Formats: sequence, structure tokens, C-alpha cells
Amino acid sequence: ARNLRQRLDEGPRRDEIDQLAIHFNAMLNRLEAAFERQRSFVSHASHELRTPLAALKSEIQLGRSLPRSAEADQVMLINLETDTDRLIALINSLLFLARTMEQASQTDFGPVRLDEVVFAAQEELIRQHPAYRIDVRYDQLPSVGSHTLVEGNEGLLQRVILNLVDNACKYSPDHRADVCISAESRGCRLTVSDQGIGIPANEQVSIFEPFYRSNEAMKYEGFGIGLAICWQIIALHQGKISLNSQVGHGSQFEVWLPNR
Ligand code: ADP
Repeated sequence: ARNLRQRLDEGPRRDEIDQLAIHFNAMLNRLEAAFERQRSFVSHASHELRTPLAALKSEIQLGRSLPRSAEADQVMLINLETDTDRLIALINSLLFLARTMEQASQTDFGPVRLDEVVFAAQEELIRQHPAYRIDVRYDQLPSVGSHTLVEGNEGLLQRVILNLVDNACKYSPDHRADVCISAESRGCRLTVSDQGIGIPANEQVSIFEPFYRSNEAMKYEGFGIGLAICWQIIALHQGKISLNSQVGHGSQFEVWLPNR
């Protein structure tokens, strides 16, 4: 773990020993990249945890230095509660991401009706944010219900849809998201579109990395973990997630999941 830089001599890359060395080196490349991701994750996570803790500490210091009054105490406690809630939300997201990263072999899979998960997510988000407008439509109306059936974990797929639709509404001034479900012969396609702030082309590969947030997004609540979770969950389902976006015009996230 301390020295993943070293590589085997691949010789003229011809005989079996050379081939073995090539495969071994490729494995070391993957291991080195994984360790690097882990290191960068830990340093980002520490930074993200330190910021709200520092805010809590200065709130407490300020409270101690000011003259006491029931009203000032009340304001201070409300602020402390808000910061603590934010910290709890961040830690919960981090734990969820860590669990989806390590759980591949333990996740329960079964038949899941994707459209039902979409409608449940729509209901949940509107309950939490009554200002959200979420339209759901079918692109190719399934003649039989089983066309929207995928092999998956319902809770995890719901998390993906919640994250994508929540982002679409959050990053759009009209708080509106359009979800389209299309049943295909070998899988199910789901698109989540908005007419919001959009994502600059040079940042589109980075937004699936944990903690990455574009400059424009800093004005909105968030930790930059949701899309990393989505990526992880879709990979677990052997599906695909991609993005089409234009700054100032909106974004479209597309998820493809294989049928049962
Ligand atoms: P969060 O929304 O908490 O910042 P995410 O991981 O869900 O974290 O998203 C990462 C980043 O991707 C966001 O900070 C934002 O910059 C960008 N992003 C995601 N979805 C959208 C969207 N629908 N419109 C514009 N930007 C988006």
C-alpha cells in the first residue's frame, strides 16, 4: 500500500512471462488509481466535515462572548441546530456513499417496476418541496407492464431518481423537472430534463466525482455527493448514466438499465 508506483519489466512484450507482467502491471495501475481516489476522498471528506464544525465552533464562541439574554440564546440555539442538521445530513450522505461502494455483493436484487419507483419518488419530492413541478410521461407506452421491469434494488434505484429529479428542480428557477420513461427491447431508459442553470462542458466529467460542485451551484444547498452515489448505484446495476447539458439552457440526465 505504501509503494504502488513500482512496475514489473514487461520485456519485449511477447512471451507468456511478458504477458503475465503486462497483466500484473495493469492490475497495479488500477490499484494505484483506487488508492489515489480513496486518499482524495478522505481529504475532501475531512475538509467538508471541518467547515460546518468550524461554523459551529464560532457560533458557540460568539454566544459565549455576548451578554446573555433569553432572545439571543434562542437565536444562537436555532443557528446551532441548523448547522448540526447540515452536518448530520452530510455524514448520512457520506455513509450512504461508502455503503454503496462496498456492498456490491450483499445488495438484494429483484424485479423492480421502474415507473412505480418514479411515481413514488415524484410523490416524495412534492411532499418535501411543494413548489416542485414534476411531470412524468412514457415515451413508448409499454403494452405490458413488464416492459418497465428491471433487475435491481428498489431502494437504491429510488435514491438515483430522487437525486436526479431533486437536482433538476433545485438547479432550475422554475423548479420544474420532466421525467420520461421509455421501455426498450433490452432495457429501460429514463431521462430527467430541466431548463435550469446547466453545467459547463469542461465540468461535465467531474460532476460524478464525490464532492465536485460547479461554481454556479455554490449558491444552492448541497454537498456534491448525490451524483457520485447515482454513478455507483447505476454501475452496481450494470446500467449507464450520461449527461447532456448547456449552460443557461438546462440539463438532461439519461439512465439506462438492463431488463430482467
Ligand atoms: P449537489 O447537488 O449536492 O451539489 P450532486 O452530486 O447531486 O451534488 O451534483 C454535483 C454537481 O453537479 C452540482 O453541485 C451541480 O454543480 C451539478 N449538477 C447536478 N445536477 C444538475 C442540474 N440538473 N443542473 C445543473 N447542475 C447540476
